[in-house]
Amino acid sequence: MNHEASRSLYDRALSVMPGGVNSSVRAAPQPYPIFVDRGDGGHVIDADGNRYVDWIQGLGPLLLGHDMPEGLQAAVQSRAAEGPMYGMPTEIEVEHAEFVCRHVPSVEMIRFVNSGTEATVSACRLARAITGRNKILIMQGGYHGAQETTLVSGDADDPKPSSAGVPQAFADHTVPVPFNDPAAAEAAFETHGDDIAAVLVEPIQANMGIVYPEDGYHDELRSLCDEYGSLLIFDEVITGFRVGGLQCAQGKFDIDPDLTTFGKIIGGGFPVGAIGGKTEYVEQFSPAGDVFQAGTFSGHPVTMAAGLETLRFCAENDVYDHVNGLGRRLREGLSDIVADHAPEYTVVGSDSLFKLVFTRADGAPQDECCANGCRQDHACSRYDACPKRGTDVRRAETDRYARLFRPAMREQGILVSQNQFEANFVAYGHTESDVEETLEAYKEAL
Ligand code: PMP
Repeated sequence: MNHEASRSLYDRALSVMPGGVNSSVRAAPQPYPIFVDRGDGGHVIDADGNRYVDWIQGLGPLLLGHDMPEGLQAAVQSRAAEGPMYGMPTEIEVEHAEFVCRHVPSVEMIRFVNSGTEATVSACRLARAITGRNKILIMQGGYHGAQETTLVSGDADDPKPSSAGVPQAFADHTVPVPFNDPAAAEAAFETHGDDIAAVLVEPIQANMGIVYPEDGYHDELRSLCDEYGSLLIFDEVITGFRVGGLQCAQGKFDIDPDLTTFGKIIGGGFPVGAIGGKTEYVEQFSPAGDVFQAGTFSGHPVTMAAGLETLRFCAENDVYDHVNGLGRRLREGLSDIVADHAPEYTVVGSDSLFKLVFTRADGAPQDECCANGCRQDHACSRYDACPKRGTDVRRAETDRYARLFRPAMREQGILVSQNQFEANFVAYGHTESDVEETLEAYKEAL
């Protein structure tokens, strides 16, 4: 494949943008990322005219793929043509809020913002205000956006900033614990419980491989929060309206969080975030309450139209059956290929998420079926090898993954997630033949 145009755009970008990109992961495919010209269904076409099956799908927002259904396209175009935004309220914000409140079990009221990061920042501020406490308990290997409270690693007794520029004073108010480890969460509550404002957790860890919760784990977190008077915040920026359909992951796992953060799909491909939850809590945001929260672009009419039309389309069509069916086919097909060609690696995922994790499960039994894998909807014979927490995935072979991404998959016309840790996303625009082509490419690559 010829990549001259991408290479030269990257050279220009390096002079004017840090690392040549506007978000870190985009530069992961070295020596240069491909620059996209346009999308087409489940595919993208790059600046050199090469076509790829695209499993990145905007890193999650594009549940329908790159083609907007007619109603969605019309809604976006007419909103943009009517003057894109006003700084005054519009009907479409109310309609979108009503849709989310109607479908997501725990959400009675919602505040729209402009990114997943902004949503988690505001949710932490809200939880701190409601409880009068300082600390936020997070999961090691989780991701909640580029914000000071959660760019923290280490453990509960020794939290450290994970980025330059985050003061230790922030890290001191964050309590990182391992995912899927109820005893660790309980111990952290025993030590810090009186000052824990909230537990902030992805229902499925989807930024460090894809790590499924073990049975009862979220129930444990729910009861610890109840016992200590802390709030349970589900970060559904990735899982929201993808895992568990219109009820989101909280519906699938039957958990009742106090607050939920959203992003990605609810904006239909435009910048968005939101904080939803019980009225008594969400109403503490200004101007109803005294927790300051505001944004020039919040509830942007073009975004609201795109998001609402996307969700309506999902409600009226077989979107979830289609994407979850293809997701399952990919996980099953990939499991067979891995069993033959790379038995040290594991296939993970759920619903329309899938991922091949380059980790070796030292000493894991090869032929035992464990409940964790079964819940991931695929017939793999190596469930004990499934990562149980994001940190298990950290030891993955990232160099080999880079070789899989670029020479092995990209050159066969398949785009999988840019690094070892991000998920792959199935869209409504994908077809059976995209799946077959992708499995063939994996077979060749592995
Ligand atoms: N929370 C989760 C679970 C995420 O996956 C992400 C981004 N992938 C964020 C928050 C941050 O969202 P954004 O990139 O829109 O700021």
